[in-house]
Amino acid sequence: MTQETLALHYGYNQEHTGAMAVPLYQTTAYDFGSAETAANRFALKELGPIYTRLNNPTTEIFENRFAAVEGGEAGLATSSGQSAVFFAAANLAEAGDNIIVAKKVYGGTTTLLTHTLKRFGITAKTFDSDTAEDLEKLIDDKTKAIFFESLSNPQIAIPNIEKIVEVANRHNIITICDNTVATPILFQPLLHGVDVTVHSTSKYTTGQGLALGGILVARNGLNKKLIGNERYPQFNEPDESYHGLVYADLPFPLFTLRARLSLLRDIGATPAPFNSWLLIQGLETLHVRMKQHSNNALEVAKYLNAHPKVKKVSYPGLEGDTQHERANKYFKDGLTSGLLSFEVEDFDTAKNILNSAKLFSVVVNIGDSKSIITHPASTTHMQVPADELEASGIKQGLIRLSIGLENPADLIADLEQAIG
Ligand SMILES: *Cc1c(COP(=O)(O)O)cnc(C)c1O
Repeated sequence: MTQETLALHYGYNQEHTGAMAVPLYQTTAYDFGSAETAANRFALKELGPIYTRLNNPTTEIFENRFAAVEGGEAGLATSSGQSAVFFAAANLAEAGDNIIVAKKVYGGTTTLLTHTLKRFGITAKTFDSDTAEDLEKLIDDKTKAIFFESLSNPQIAIPNIEKIVEVANRHNIITICDNTVATPILFQPLLHGVDVTVHSTSKYTTGQGLALGGILVARNGLNKKLIGNERYPQFNEPDESYHGLVYADLPFPLFTLRARLSLLRDIGATPAPFNSWLLIQGLETLHVRMKQHSNNALEVAKYLNAHPKVKKVSYPGLEGDTQHERANKYFKDGLTSGLLSFEVEDFDTAKNILNSAKLFSVVVNIGDSKSIITHPASTTHMQVPADELEASGIKQGLIRLSIGLENPADLIADLEQAIG
C-alpha cells in the first residue's frame, strides 16, 4: 500500500464501536482479567497492554502507523525528539563505548550526545557527513553507532548516505538517522539501508505546533544484524534487569523491544496518550502538507534568489544549489521540506528584517503550519564566538525561515516589505 493510504488507515479498522477517528485511550492501567494473563504479559508470552509507561493502545496505533509510513518494521514513541535520540543511542552504547556523530546536527543532539552522555561514560567523535571520507578511520572496537541527519537542522545539508551505510555495514555497526526535517514523506532512510530512524514528531508530524513527541523506527530485518553481533552483547546475553531474559531468543523486532523493556520502562519518557492521538491526526495529513511546505519554500527561495539585497540562498530544492543533485537523487520528486536560509549584508540588516516581518513569527521552532523567521547569530548561536560562527557557515547576516502553509504570495509580499 502507498504511504498516503497507510497514513490514513494503518493499524485501525473501526473496531468495537465503528468510530471513524482512532479512539483516545486516556488511561494509566489495564485490567488483565486473570492472574494468568497478567503473568503471561509480564513474561512476554503474550504481548498486550500492561501499564501506560510501557504501552498504550492509542500510542501503539501511532507507533505502528508511523513505522508503516516510514517503511520500517517497528516503532517506539517517546515523549519528545530528545528522548528518542537518547533511547536510540543508549540502546546501543554503554559506559566505555563511543558513538560517531555527524558535525552537522541539531544543537540539542550535539549537547546530548557529546556532552551529557560523556557524564555517563559514553564518548562521541564527530565526522564530516557531507563526504563521510573521515568516517572509517574513527571506528574502533567500542564504536556502537553512527548518527546523522537526513536533512540537517539548521544547515539544511544532505549527507553522503550511501557511503555512511556502506562503511557502517562493513564494520557491523548500527546507523541511526534523524529524519525529522525530511519526514518519511520526502525521504525513507530505512529503504536506503539505514538501520534505525529517529524523529522529533513535534515538528512536521504534529504540523500545527500542537504537541511534543518523538519516535524511533527499526528497519525490516534488523534482528539479523543484532543477533550474534559481538558489538552488541546486550541483545545476545542475559539481561539481569529482566530475569535473565535474552532478547535474541525472542521472535519480535529486538531493537524497539529492548528500548521499550529496558529504557522506556526505567526512564519513563513516555508520550501522553492525548499527544499520541494528536500526532495521529497530524500523520493523516502529513503527505499533503509536506508537498505544500516544499512547494511554498521553493517559491520563496526563488524570490529571494533574485533579490538584489540577498547575497546567498540555501535551499536544496533550488536549481543551482550546491545540494540540488543530491536532493534529486534521494528526495521524492526533489522536494526538500520547508527550511531555507538566506544571507543579507550584516547583523543589523538581518535584525531589522526580523523586526519588520509581520506574517513571519520570531520563534525558535520548525515545521509549524505558520511561517517562522530566526536570526541564529543573535539567538540560537549567540554564545558561539564570531570566528567559530563564520567557520561553521553561520554568518552574522544569516536568516533562517521555516516556511508554513500560508499562500506563498503573502509570504513573499511580507518579505518584500521587510527587506525593502
Ligand atoms: C527539534 C529537533 C529535535 C528535538 O526534538 P524535541 O521534540 O524538541 O525534543 C531533534 N532533532 C531534530 C532534527 C530536531 O529538529
